[in-house]
Amino acid sequence: MTLDSHWFTEVCEEGGSAFSLKIKCKLHEEQSDYQRIEIYDTEHFGKLMVIDGFIMLSTLDNFLYHEMMSHPALFSHPDPRRVVIIGGGDCGTLREVLRHPAVEHALQVEIDERVTRLSETYFPELCSANDDPRAEFFFGDGIRWMREAEPGSVDVIIVDSTDPIGPAKGLFTEAFYRDCRQALGEQGLIVQQSESPLYHMDIIGPMHAAMRAAGFDHTLSLHFPQPVYPSGWWTATLGGKGVDPRQFRSEDAATRSFETRYYNADIHRAALAQPEFMRRALQLEAGS
Ligand code: SAM
Repeated sequence: MTLDSHWFTEVCEEGGSAFSLKIKCKLHEEQSDYQRIEIYDTEHFGKLMVIDGFIMLSTLDNFLYHEMMSHPALFSHPDPRRVVIIGGGDCGTLREVLRHPAVEHALQVEIDERVTRLSETYFPELCSANDDPRAEFFFGDGIRWMREAEPGSVDVIIVDSTDPIGPAKGLFTEAFYRDCRQALGEQGLIVQQSESPLYHMDIIGPMHAAMRAAGFDHTLSLHFPQPVYPSGWWTATLGGKGVDPRQFRSEDAATRSFETRYYNADIHRAALAQPEFMRRALQLEAGS
């Protein structure tokens, strides 16, 4: 929806709110086999990718999301060598994952190849690790891929998907989490983008319940800012299998061999703190 030709506006019906960005021009628009993809050039946020009317990412602030979708999970796992990303077609999460020298193989399972091809054109900086020999691309449905995955073959699963509608709906179900748990080794972690705590507790609550029902011992939502998403306050939810996501390799995080813009050991620690209303709603233990 546009206010006039100089603004892109995303309306969030459930929050009774809207977020607008001043745009210079529309760079691209197409209907892929799965969704409507638009790319804009904005006045202050750089390039903007929109899918089915919902903002996916901007040049200016995607580092917040991509770093928080990858580094906390990877520093919570004792030895993250095999990583699978479900969705994540813009390749920003893949780039962050491949910054970890311990990672031997990172597979991106994205349903819509057009998202990746457009990202290569309009967000080349996010695709800078695509030629890394450890990176592999599979274009297909992540739900099906997970159902057919070899048991015990993955250390960390990152679900970097669109909202739980359309092809992403099945990524928020107990059946999917069961498949994820089976694909993970004895020590494994899943992390999934999980919307805004201000507007979407109706998604976050059932997500925790479904992960726990699927057998994940511990679940926990990480908190971080994301200005282009509804309310500007976002979460990623972690589920541990034989790994407690309340703990992380803080010394390794503090002495990491790569640069980040947002993530560090203090940010990780802070992101683990749970607001009172979430602690109550999710019946988390005090101190978690
Ligand atoms: N972080 C962004 C957000 O929350 O707005 C999402 C970025 S990424 C572009 C999301 C990707 O998930 C899209 O490219 C979409 O095609 C992909 N996706 C949705 N459902 C999927 C599924 N079932 N399997 C694999 N990829 C899926």
